[in-house]
Amino acid sequence: MEVTIDKNSGYCFGVEFAIQMAEDEMESDGLLYCLGDIVHNDMEVQRLYEKGLRIIDREQLQQLHNCKVLIRAHGEPPETYQLALRNNIELIDASCPVVLKLQNRVKHAYDKMQEVDGQVIIYGQKGHAEVVGLTGQTNKEAIVVTTAEDLEQVNFSRPVTLFSQTTKSTKGFYDIKAKIEERLKAARGGVLNVVDFNANDSICRQVSNREPQLTRFSQLHDVIVFVSGKKSSNGKALYSVCRQHNPDSYFIENESELETGWFENATSVGICGATSTPMWLMERVAGHIRQMGAGVAVSADL
Ligand code: SF4
Repeated sequence: MEVTIDKNSGYCFGVEFAIQMAEDEMESDGLLYCLGDIVHNDMEVQRLYEKGLRIIDREQLQQLHNCKVLIRAHGEPPETYQLALRNNIELIDASCPVVLKLQNRVKHAYDKMQEVDGQVIIYGQKGHAEVVGLTGQTNKEAIVVTTAEDLEQVNFSRPVTLFSQTTKSTKGFYDIKAKIEERLKAARGGVLNVVDFNANDSICRQVSNREPQLTRFSQLHDVIVFVSGKKSSNGKALYSVCRQHNPDSYFIENESELETGWFENATSVGICGATSTPMWLMERVAGHIRQMGAGVAVSADL
């Protein structure tokens, strides 16, 4: 049985940059606070904890003064920056440039929508840190839509500008877009003007480009082991791509969840993961699969 690690899996540049920034800071200063999990991966959070990274939530941030706090790749709403100023907190801003650019676009769209009594819709996960940062650009007025049922909050007689959280699935975005378009048209007797609907596919290419790559990868192997934190949004989206193209796909957070029975009839196993999955973890999973079956060779396709 051959075990291959997908060369396209592992950290995107946004996550890599945030972790590098945290490690550089800790090397010079030791302890560093981080607002929320630096990545949705408990194993990596634990590794960084041992180096001095302390994860805090928004309530804890309110109590801090005169210290350094890392902003992770997901970005933050304006109120976080205001609080930091008040409490003399130095922010180490590792917001991903792709997210920062999207925040700007959302802010600009919100201002334009104000002029025409329109609405901004964000297709994303309610409460997700990136979504909190995006709605923060709209005075928290943007409507967050996760499922088609959430569209009930939208007034279809008013114009709409649509964006996506960067880590959602492409298919999910275009399904929602089609539903919005249909309902906007229905509210206007079938005719839609340019000002009525502006849809922006703002899914990060680091995620969407992985979908076709993972489709090919999952078809090449008998069994797919997808490694990701269970809280990772892009982890869920990318795993569903694997599962769709290879029913023998398994989602694990770490090697302790592996089951021997998965590999009984397999001659090749593919290991892949999310944009928040460290390469060292996929290598560790590959090592465990090797130990589980006699004569299994690991070839890291890097
Ligand atoms: S997935 Fe894209 S937007 Fe999100 S952190 Fe990575 S590079 Fe940035």
